Amino acid sequence: MSHPISVMVHTPAHSGLGGALTYSSDIPVDPGALVRVPLGSRELLGVVWDDTTQEEHVPGIVLRPIACVLEGLAPLSPHWRQLVQFAAHYYQRSIGEVALAALPNQLRELSAEQWNRRLKRKAKVPSPSERHTPDIPVATQEQAQVLGQIAAHKGPFLLFGNTGSGKTEVYLRAAQDVLTGDPRAQILVMVPEINLTPQLEARFRERFAPQWGEQCLVTMHSGLTPAQRLNHWLAAHNGQARIVLGTRMAVFASMPQLQLIVVDEEHDPSYKQQEGARYSARDLAVYRGQLEHAKVILGSATPSLESWHHSRPATDTDPAGRYLRLHMPSRVGQGALPLVRRVDMNRQPYKTVFSSHLLDAMRERIARNEQILVLLNRRGYAPVLHCTDCSWKSECPHCSAYRVFHKLDRTLRCHHCGYTQAVPRACPSCGNQDISPLGRGTEQLEEHLGELLADVRRPDGTALRIARIDADSTRLKGELERQLAEVHSGAIDILVGTQMIAKGHDFRRVTLVAALNPDGALFSSDFRAPERLFSLLMQAAGRAGRDASMSLAHACEMWVQSFHPQHPLFEALKQHDYPAFADQQLKERLEANLPPFSFQALVRAEARSQQAAQDFLSAARDAGTAWADDALVDIYPAVPMSIQRVANIERAQMLLECTSRKALQGFLSHWQAQLHTLRGHHKQVIRWAIDVDPLAI
Ligand code: ADP
Ligand code: ZN
Ligand code: ZN
Repeated sequence: MSHPISVMVHTPAHSGLGGALTYSSDIPVDPGALVRVPLGSRELLGVVWDDTTQEEHVPGIVLRPIACVLEGLAPLSPHWRQLVQFAAHYYQRSIGEVALAALPNQLRELSAEQWNRRLKRKAKVPSPSERHTPDIPVATQEQAQVLGQIAAHKGPFLLFGNTGSGKTEVYLRAAQDVLTGDPRAQILVMVPEINLTPQLEARFRERFAPQWGEQCLVTMHSGLTPAQRLNHWLAAHNGQARIVLGTRMAVFASMPQLQLIVVDEEHDPSYKQQEGARYSARDLAVYRGQLEHAKVILGSATPSLESWHHSRPATDTDPAGRYLRLHMPSRVGQGALPLVRRVDMNRQPYKTVFSSHLLDAMRERIARNEQILVLLNRRGYAPVLHCTDCSWKSECPHCSAYRVFHKLDRTLRCHHCGYTQAVPRACPSCGNQDISPLGRGTEQLEEHLGELLADVRRPDGTALRIARIDADSTRLKGELERQLAEVHSGAIDILVGTQMIAKGHDFRRVTLVAALNPDGALFSSDFRAPERLFSLLMQAAGRAGRDASMSLAHACEMWVQSFHPQHPLFEALKQHDYPAFADQQLKERLEANLPPFSFQALVRAEARSQQAAQDFLSAARDAGTAWADDALVDIYPAVPMSIQRVANIERAQMLLECTSRKALQGFLSHWQAQLHTLRGHHKQVIRWAIDVDPLAI
């Protein structure tokens, strides 16, 4: 007898083949099984889906048979399939695309024979090393209290704890409880960036490998080889790996016994995928936790305003939010948070880069053999090169942006399309030999600091060592690790860098952090810019004084050079008062009806001309207006994106807003079908996409 089988395959997002395809099979195949199926002349990997998505089977139509079932693999769980289905619906993509993107590539690539060979080569389980319990520090009072709450409540939890308050130790202990409580239980731990995995992996291994062996933990991130990714995925899928530690992609890991999810640095924008299905791994983690009855801990020293709002305590007029907020205000070992010092740049001589007070403070730190971080969120030597005679500037011929001057290799580089040229000897427009940099990036800062401190020696008489860490200095594989290790070992005195140096790293000897020129974000058109700046500065401040013995000896400092030192953001920073900052921001958001008090989606379109991109969006708007009105969705007019042209492609976007998430959702799923149709009439449109809950507008 032949059975009709629904199968999800990876069809291109906008091909219109959104649902399952129907095949036949001689034997029944369980939903969640992986199969290979013919499509056209190709053979594709697919996931067998539940019957509910199956089209009505029309008698008389002959179904193509599936090619084979991947043997020896337990079906993907109903929970996993529901997570994928939810993500696809919510972020307006096809189920097949989301499902297949969540599986390791090698599953797709291996033929049936290769797969069978792979299975036979079953991973050898190393015999567990001598099992013993590692040294576990006694929980602080705050940690004990928080852990009690986690044990007693359902969650989700927002763990609001200062940098150095011992959040990681809370994750470790919560994990320990779950792992000990059920010999099969699994735990998912997420970090925003691949750079942050090694140190967290080390701490989890140190704690859990002695008890359950090295193979109890696997990682999932883009740095794995395809073979590693498959192995790690299989280990999670078959339950051997009890801890999966990874970046946002790990939220889709197949973990049949998932009981705890930790999202560290939950505020970090890197949790949002920026292409394909633009999912928020943090939001999906919360959904997944609910679905699987797994506890979810979101941790941060500067939570996203969304999570802060969702964890609000009840008031007389307002019920409590959906999350339970847990607070750990103190640093372990009582290392004080750094003293924040603001320098009013209006009072400094014109064109001052480092105020003289800051330079003096740096000299003092160096004399005591301490380390300094200097933060500037702009890489390269100078953002623009210009001619002092005519108005020539180093515009990118392919983008509506300037090319950045990189002095080390004397190039002009576009940070959007990558277009790179040698710096011209003279102005390309008028021939003037005098072309000069405008503005300042990390490269220039590093050079300038070297000049300013040329006379400074380290206490042992050797020369001062200044290093720079940014996307340019760490392009080569392994460079970032090497440079970070140098800082950790104390070989570097001053580290200049972009936001890369502010996150998570445990620099023990840093006692002074300086932020130069953070003012741009205060007046940005992006309503999330202040939130991002505040968290960046708090994170950076958190790099100082991590070693309590040093911070007790003399106060650690965070210096902020600004033309607006009295700005409320810096006032709140000075007090280390995230709640004050968050409440002020939320008040503004409420007044302006912005998230989290409303929900947004963006439609972006790309075309050869701006007109064509906008025409498509305007037509989409017209087509949706009637429904949108019913659903109380506001559709704003199409506008060029802030960087309107990249690599000769014009980009436009259109914002949708609604006070109900559900109404917006309902509207989008109807409207999406119309967009697919409309696209057929707008041949000049190269691509379009919907971004639900966009982070950058
Ligand atoms: P966070 O993740 O909040 O930045 P960590 O968990 O990394 O904080 O803790 C900061 C430092 O304090 C680490 O060096 C950690 O080993 C130490 N620590 C954390 N909890 C304790 C504790 N209960 N007793 C002693 N040391 C602790
Ligand atoms: Zn010129
Ligand atoms: Zn360019």
